[in-house]
Amino acid sequence: MSRSAPSARSAAGLARPLLAALVLLAALAPTAARAQAAADWLLRPDRVFDGSETHAGWSVLVRDGRIAAVGPDVQPNGARTLDLPGTTLLPGLIEGHSHILLHPYDETPWVDQVLLESLGERTARAVVHVRETLMAGVTTARDLGAEGAGYADIGIRDAIEKGVIPGPRMLVSGPAMVTTGSYNPRGAPEWNLPKGAQETDGVDDLIRVTREQIGAGADWIKVYADYRWGPDGQARPTYTQAELDLVVEVAESSGRRVVAHAATAEGMERAARAGVRTIDHGDGGTAETFALMAELGVALCPTLAAGDAISQYGGWRKGVDPEPARITAKRASFRRALDAGVEICFGGDVGVYPHGDNVRELEMMVEYGMSAADVVRAATSGNARIFELEDRGRVVPGLLADLVAVRGDPTADVSALRRVELVMKGGQIVRGGPEG
Ligand SMILES: [Zn+2]
Repeated sequence: MSRSAPSARSAAGLARPLLAALVLLAALAPTAARAQAAADWLLRPDRVFDGSETHAGWSVLVRDGRIAAVGPDVQPNGARTLDLPGTTLLPGLIEGHSHILLHPYDETPWVDQVLLESLGERTARAVVHVRETLMAGVTTARDLGAEGAGYADIGIRDAIEKGVIPGPRMLVSGPAMVTTGSYNPRGAPEWNLPKGAQETDGVDDLIRVTREQIGAGADWIKVYADYRWGPDGQARPTYTQAELDLVVEVAESSGRRVVAHAATAEGMERAARAGVRTIDHGDGGTAETFALMAELGVALCPTLAAGDAISQYGGWRKGVDPEPARITAKRASFRRALDAGVEICFGGDVGVYPHGDNVRELEMMVEYGMSAADVVRAATSGNARIFELEDRGRVVPGLLADLVAVRGDPTADVSALRRVELVMKGGQIVRGGPEG
């Protein structure tokens, strides 16, 4: 057909592009409706938990992705009203210790994930994990180690930020650092197996790798202050005091904080003295250890749910068999931390158990001795304070509209956090709402 004869086109020929355009518009309609969800909202739950206290009859006005007004007499001023009867509206949860590049060890042992699953598979799984995390009401997650998946955590964080995939706002630590010889997988000595973290030792190496991880995009630097490499496989300290001091000095000069994995009293005390922000696990902490942490302002992420899950994977029938010694000891050490006044972080080591089941840790914090109200504070304003995130974690005008509505009152029954009715991230409804 000649290009110079457009008038020869039949009416039917013209109709086809028009029809195509209409079909396209129809296909776009849900997207357009979804985009509206990013507009302004007046949220009307039964009550608002603002990060500290609960207020019956309060509403929250969301404008341009932020909280614009909070209180008993907030007017919509042109915003759409969304009634949320029977619910508590609270800040989106802040998970303090996740592994989006791991999945539960009863599905696939950790060693097999690290050695046998491809980077592509692990990344694909992580895409699913971050969506499950967000749908559970977790709008921020600190992810503590890619466990052999390189810097895939940084790629996932960036893809979420760019709107490519749904997920929480991520604070990631990249590969994490371990001393040579301490970490897994460890096989026959003649094999040089890849590790689940980056082996780094001594002054020059620690300075270089800390900077390398920062340059690659790590938000936090994670070090393993101890690991199970004692003569009988028990946890023993790894880095020296001087090494830990150096990592903290180098990281902090870049404006980043350090988190230490530590389960022994000595490893915890070295990490605390070095100036890490949080110590994660903390099983072997003594009264003196926790007193030191309280004095130095180091928070504890207790990862109660991880030990509980691993014990069950090892055959413990919870509620049927007697409690394993490890679990009883963990209850006692958590109690010591509470008694010493250590700031408690919400960090469960999720990934050891299913992503999206983050609330399991919060339920266990109550089971092990915290009040439900303190646990909900820890999961919102507490972690925001510990992670120095001033733009979230409370329902206050000016902060990010990262909000979750749950059926019931979680400060009375923390399991109410499982009954998610609405998740909003940056003013955009990602679960629930008028579209379902
Ligand atoms: Zn972990």
